[in-house]
Amino acid sequence: METRHDEIAVVGAGLAGCLLACFLARRGHPVALYERRPDPRTGTAERGRSINLALSERGLDALRRIGLDEQVMADALPMRGRMVHPVVGEPGFQPYSVDGDRAINSISRGALNNALLEAAAKLPQVRIAFDHRLVGLDPDTGAMTFETPQGTVTANAKVVLGTDGAGSAVRGQLLAHGLLTESVDFLDYGYKELTIPPLGGEFALDPGALHIWPRGTSMMIALPNPDRSFTCTLFWPTHGTASFASLGSAAAIEQHFAQHYPDLPPLAPNLVDDYQHNPVGVLGTVRCDPWQVDGRVGLLGDAAHAIVPFYGQGANCAFEDVVELDRCLDECADDWAMALPLFQRRRQDNAEAIAQMALANFVEMRDKVASPVFRTRKKIEHA
Ligand code: FAD
Repeated sequence: METRHDEIAVVGAGLAGCLLACFLARRGHPVALYERRPDPRTGTAERGRSINLALSERGLDALRRIGLDEQVMADALPMRGRMVHPVVGEPGFQPYSVDGDRAINSISRGALNNALLEAAAKLPQVRIAFDHRLVGLDPDTGAMTFETPQGTVTANAKVVLGTDGAGSAVRGQLLAHGLLTESVDFLDYGYKELTIPPLGGEFALDPGALHIWPRGTSMMIALPNPDRSFTCTLFWPTHGTASFASLGSAAAIEQHFAQHYPDLPPLAPNLVDDYQHNPVGVLGTVRCDPWQVDGRVGLLGDAAHAIVPFYGQGANCAFEDVVELDRCLDECADDWAMALPLFQRRRQDNAEAIAQMALANFVEMRDKVASPVFRTRKKIEHA
């Protein structure tokens, strides 16, 4: 592939990478967007891998700036509160705001990624190379090596921006060159996705709420999808006597859900199949420093600061990164050596704050939302 030395390389065409390509092109930069996967617009989603996510005002603000908010929101399902499912008794609704007006929005991750990809692909300054997995990077020169189905190829760029997710290869290359330090704290919990299909063509649960089954050491949530199904995400320890691995047979799975999540089995006819075949995803917090090297290589989104998903803010935070980098470029007249360090100074504390809040919210969601004290406090707040 022909490369241009004035190009900005964006590695990873996920949520942050596609949005970043749009913002950079708008500033007049030629952009090469590299993605290890084939074009997702022509394929099918991976089984059991975060089908939907909650988009909040932080993320919407970024989409609004490139005129994509209305298109994305057309299929969004606003969730105005939590619906808490106890083991015994009726579910209870806890609104997110006093007036009940504020909502977070359940949207399809695939549809959002495709909308952003489509927006980037339409821009003449952006070229996209799918099936390009970054495997090498020289931080001094910006020379990159990719594995492709045709073999190894190389490319160059003026600046390389890693938006390649929690397991970032760009971050890995900086680490290998001794240019950053990182810590990756895995949670001893994993997640598995399960499906509640439509019931008689309608939603089987209230689609205006984020559903939570708080169970102390385990927790399940469910978000609505535009096809009237729900995607449930079960969080549970990865090892031990009460863990994903402890349910070894169909009978054990059925018995476990009947006992702990009794309203689920009647609504989830494929529960056993989903449980047995959907993968267990890992969860963790990534911290690294610095987020940039010499104004030539930078990290954004999960590549710089992956967080656990309990605040539903990882993607929203990645979108905020893009807006902030754009602002820094504005203030530094597109001088990357000034803009990238400024970006890190402005974002790192915020990323750390949401990382800690996300961990704390896990305790709240799996435990406290079901406690009588919490329910009383909520009643007082919303009286
Ligand atoms: P990613 O979305 O991971 O994109 C990285 C891209 O880089 C991918 O396309 C990948 O294929 C590509 N790539 C990787 N390696 C290479 C390579 N070597 N070469 C080239 N390309 C490469 N966030 C929210 O805001 N709200 C939620 O409700 C929410 N729910 C979540 C639920 C779960 C179960 C999980 C796990 C996460 C959730 N998140 C949520 C977090 C959110 O998914 C991430 O924060 C977000 O996807 C980060 O975007 P990103 O573009 O930085 O990384």
